[in-house]
Amino acid sequence: MHLFICTACGTQYPESAAPPAQCVICEEERQYVPPRGQTWTTLEGLANSHMNAFHEYGTGIIGIGAGFAIGQRALLVRTEGGNILWDCVSTLDAATVTLIRGLGGLKAIAISHPHFYTAMHEWARAFDCPIHLHAADKEWVMRPGPAVKHWDGDTLKLWDGVTLVRCGGHFPGGTVMHWAGGAQGRGVVCAGDVLSITTDRKWVSFMRSYPNFIPLSKREVEGIGNALKPFPFDIIYGHYFDRVIPKDGKRVLEKSVARYVAAIEGTRGY
Ligand SMILES: [Zn+2]
Ligand SMILES: [Zn+2]
Repeated sequence: MHLFICTACGTQYPESAAPPAQCVICEEERQYVPPRGQTWTTLEGLANSHMNAFHEYGTGIIGIGAGFAIGQRALLVRTEGGNILWDCVSTLDAATVTLIRGLGGLKAIAISHPHFYTAMHEWARAFDCPIHLHAADKEWVMRPGPAVKHWDGDTLKLWDGVTLVRCGGHFPGGTVMHWAGGAQGRGVVCAGDVLSITTDRKWVSFMRSYPNFIPLSKREVEGIGNALKPFPFDIIYGHYFDRVIPKDGKRVLEKSVARYVAAIEGTRGY
């Protein structure tokens, strides 16, 4: 028996003798099945082909990823109240476990949306911690398990200064994490691709499907802006290692919502 992992999206499936017939996440319009067809690996297979890289962005925040599948990058966020893994990756090698244990382990895992569920149970087991997921995306949990704690509503305060904020958009339960103490107290938002940092690193944008170019409505994008209105923040960390808004994050979000809405309503004027 094996725990197969989809090589296109990184999702780990429940134990089975043969690979799943298809990947439910990749068959859906927010992901895709590569033209070569679906292929599968396992955690043991990945240990032979991929190694996690680490990038320290600033005090208390370290990116972790191996460029596998969608290229997901997790963040080890070392808050005053404990360490949290924001988002997750399929690659959990021995060095990663040793290093994170040396930094105090994990108090919790929180994930923005199903494209980062990946091998979340392996991480939860290694660090004996819960996984916080928004209940609105329950149907996309391919491998259930006791570590998953589904939450409802608009916000979930994990502990002082660390709040999960449901923005919706890309997925109905699309969540970002606000860390009040980050950026020397100016505040940090960890966004996955609920807010997607643009290639020029000056804006964020919003999509239902990034690979298949399906936009969101005005209502959904304004909802994202409104969800973050109560929170001060300066830095936004995006989906990949190199996608960061280094300052003025709050203003960038506000002007990005306005630009998106003007574009979709045809009122930009160009
Ligand atoms: Zn997949
Ligand atoms: Zn996504």
